[in-house]
Amino acid sequence: MKKTPKLYAIIKGKCPQCRRGAIFTGNMYGFNIQRTNYSCLHCAQRFEIEPGYFYAAMYVSYAMNMIEMISMGFATYYLSGGRLDFDSLWLYVGVIFLGSLLLSPLNYRYSRVILLHWLSPKIKYKAEYDKA
Ligand SMILES: [Zn+2]
Repeated sequence: MKKTPKLYAIIKGKCPQCRRGAIFTGNMYGFNIQRTNYSCLHCAQRFEIEPGYFYAAMYVSYAMNMIEMISMGFATYYLSGGRLDFDSLWLYVGVIFLGSLLLSPLNYRYSRVILLHWLSPKIKYKAEYDKA
């Protein structure tokens, strides 16, 4: 029995226990807005393992957002030829605001995936569920 690689499960947003069932319904950037499934459709692992569990994903998403905003700030600095004065303030504000807005569906998804895969000691990978 071949194990599903963990990195594949993380990128594809699969269940941390079986790495087969989808954590989300809908698309990250699509007309079907993404929602977190109540439980895995493959192995029945509950995703929100206790009430308010996804509040913890907020801290993950905060860290992701900070990294993204700092990167966008540096990218703006280098792409604008090192402009950093009062007149370029709105350029930075605009780029960082729009960038954060565009990346928010990605942060929503991957903050929960990271929480479930790396920061949830109660949920472990079980190879016996990793089969069709
Ligand atoms: Zn599962």
